[in-house]
Amino acid sequence: AYVGRYVGRFAPSPTGLLHAGSLVAALASWLDARAHGGRWLLRIEDVDLPRCVPGADRLILGQLAALGLLPDESPMWQSQRGAHYAQALARLEAEGWVYGCACSRKDIAAAIAAAGGALQRHGELVYPSTCRAGTQGRPLRAWRLRSTAGRADERPLLIAWHDRRLGAQAQDLTHAVGDFVLKRADGLWAYQLAVVVDDGEQGISHVVRGEDLADNTPRQIRLQQLLGYARPAYLHTPLVLGANGEKLSKQNGALPVELGDPLAALKQAALPLGLALQASSLPEALAEAVAAWPYRLPGPV
Ligand code: GLU
Repeated sequence: AYVGRYVGRFAPSPTGLLHAGSLVAALASWLDARAHGGRWLLRIEDVDLPRCVPGADRLILGQLAALGLLPDESPMWQSQRGAHYAQALARLEAEGWVYGCACSRKDIAAAIAAAGGALQRHGELVYPSTCRAGTQGRPLRAWRLRSTAGRADERPLLIAWHDRRLGAQAQDLTHAVGDFVLKRADGLWAYQLAVVVDDGEQGISHVVRGEDLADNTPRQIRLQQLLGYARPAYLHTPLVLGANGEKLSKQNGALPVELGDPLAALKQAALPLGLALQASSLPEALAEAVAAWPYRLPGPV
């Protein structure tokens, strides 16, 4: 029964079925909610429609159900929430935090090359803020958020945060990320905006997800600050590496979790979380995992 204020979620993108890596995040978010007497919600993150696979959402819900991971409310689909994202963007725009950007990827690459190539992060381009001062009549493409300390204060903004597993974290949002996109040139909502609006409106108190998403957290914290949402607690779970030493992902061909033997799949997913489960049935294994959950928070939540 739900006793505390804990609300957690799992938020898969339906670009394919759950694989051994994404199942770890699903299981961890469920276990953390159960271990703290919380609710657990499911959100299908289908904002990037061109990358979504039709029917994958239903198959993911089926995979989770087969493992006994059942949500406490009916799932939410981001593709139905455009009006909420539009409202958030309009508010940020009215308050002067957002500006229209006319730059193509080519424009950005050229501006970076002209600046001596210094603006690079993991091979990704850090936007050189060209359109902060206006688009000089060029047609608008995307909407970007100012990543600086203030609307007119161009000093860098340092976001410090705590992760329950990784400890103290910090990022210079202005230099490491730059002015980031909230609405894309193709009209699609960016993950950063959608996830913050939905976590805020669903009252998510605890975010548990894979470590590959950890460096998105400062962008999301900044949006929470500007939109007036409370900051959830964060736990980023260990990534599962494939035989080649790379993180398992749909992009590098990770196979869907096999549901012929849900107990075996569950035990496999529990290992990176530090749980070597001994139970011989699915319900017992889930109960064993909740009881032994290593990321238990001190005190009532
Ligand atoms: N939809 C994102 C993904 O599947 C996860 C979002 C999140 O947990 O914040 O990678």
